Amino acid sequence: MTDTLSLDFHKLFGRKPRLFRAPGRVNLIGEHTDYNDGFVMPAAIQFATWAAAAPRHDRAVRVHSINLGATIEFSLDHRGAAPTRTWQDYVQGVALQIEKEGHTLHGADLLIRGDVPLGSGLSSSASLEVATARALLACSSIDLPPLAIARLCQRAEVEFVGMRCGIMDQFASCFGEEGQALLLDCRTLEHEYLPLPQGASLVVANTMVKHELASSAYNDRRQVCESAARTAGVTHLRDLHSADIARWLPHWGAAIGRRARHTITENERVQSAAAALREGRLEDFGALMYASHESLRDDYEVSCPELDTMVELARAAPGVYGSRMTGGGFGGCTISLVRGDAVAAFTARLATGYQAATSLAPAIFVCHAVAGAREEAAA
Ligand code: ADP
Ligand code: MG
Repeated sequence: MTDTLSLDFHKLFGRKPRLFRAPGRVNLIGEHTDYNDGFVMPAAIQFATWAAAAPRHDRAVRVHSINLGATIEFSLDHRGAAPTRTWQDYVQGVALQIEKEGHTLHGADLLIRGDVPLGSGLSSSASLEVATARALLACSSIDLPPLAIARLCQRAEVEFVGMRCGIMDQFASCFGEEGQALLLDCRTLEHEYLPLPQGASLVVANTMVKHELASSAYNDRRQVCESAARTAGVTHLRDLHSADIARWLPHWGAAIGRRARHTITENERVQSAAAALREGRLEDFGALMYASHESLRDDYEVSCPELDTMVELARAAPGVYGSRMTGGGFGGCTISLVRGDAVAAFTARLATGYQAATSLAPAIFVCHAVAGAREEAAA
């Protein structure tokens, strides 16, 4: 990837670039908990967005995405720029946010290429943001710690892109470690690395669907959680435990109560899953994955028939500890924890079964955990 990206950059912009890589991530458990100040367990994965970059002498930023075959250009001096509702927003949002925080950027030329599938819940957006931030900062000789980069990228997505996401995706892209999952407390940002088991693999299966509802439902769920927390007199649902649910249910009503119950029980599942992983209890970890899926399907109502089909096919296959939808929902991917010696048969069976049920050919990949965003040596 690095060789051709450098060459392509040279052809397009006529100089030698520096190269930055920011990975996508898969969330093992803890879905829709990050914006409730709760717990999540992502791992950075081998799919990444790369940015080749070189500074300019003016304040223009020119960016070409090889994936989309499109070029955008904007001026850093256009501070009141409105979002365009295209991929430009991720890049410009990051640039604007860096300057909003008091740094002054040079203009830059960027060439972007990624292999994170777009819009599938593996966070191509955060990987684009983080790669962009790294590239723009380096072109201006500004050194920021990974936590500052994760935070400014999240703010860019919330404030400029208009997606009220939590910190998980950007944090995982910045803080990933080879072979480790991250247990992250989204309130304190305290995190712990949890070694992934040697004898098992993370298998991600893309349903190849993305239903329209995704982003409107996301913002809706977020609002419902905020209102449930207010009713219960806490700042975030993170502050409630399953023992509190019965008390507040009459105040919430059935619909809001189901949403709150997902969030509260999911936080507890993440804690239990972390303990199971530390102690090598993979069956228990898997059972929590299935329980997470059921809660997302029945209480939070963000699954869809394709995701449910994928999980049921996993449940019926030999050597599978657990499986669940991962990402925001309404399509995208499932993640399954599968015994090492069963992976080949599992992926074949999942592909055939899913295609027979839906007429869609799923993309299935075995994921491994990789290091977070960094500059890479140019070829
Ligand atoms: P996810 O983060 O789950 O992949 P999102 O909808 O949050 O899904 O982000 C996907 C969007 O991010 C794409 O529609 C596109 O606008 C932008 N994006 C991601 N990667 C690239 C890329 N390599 N080139 C251009 N735009 C990209
Ligand atoms: Mg995203």
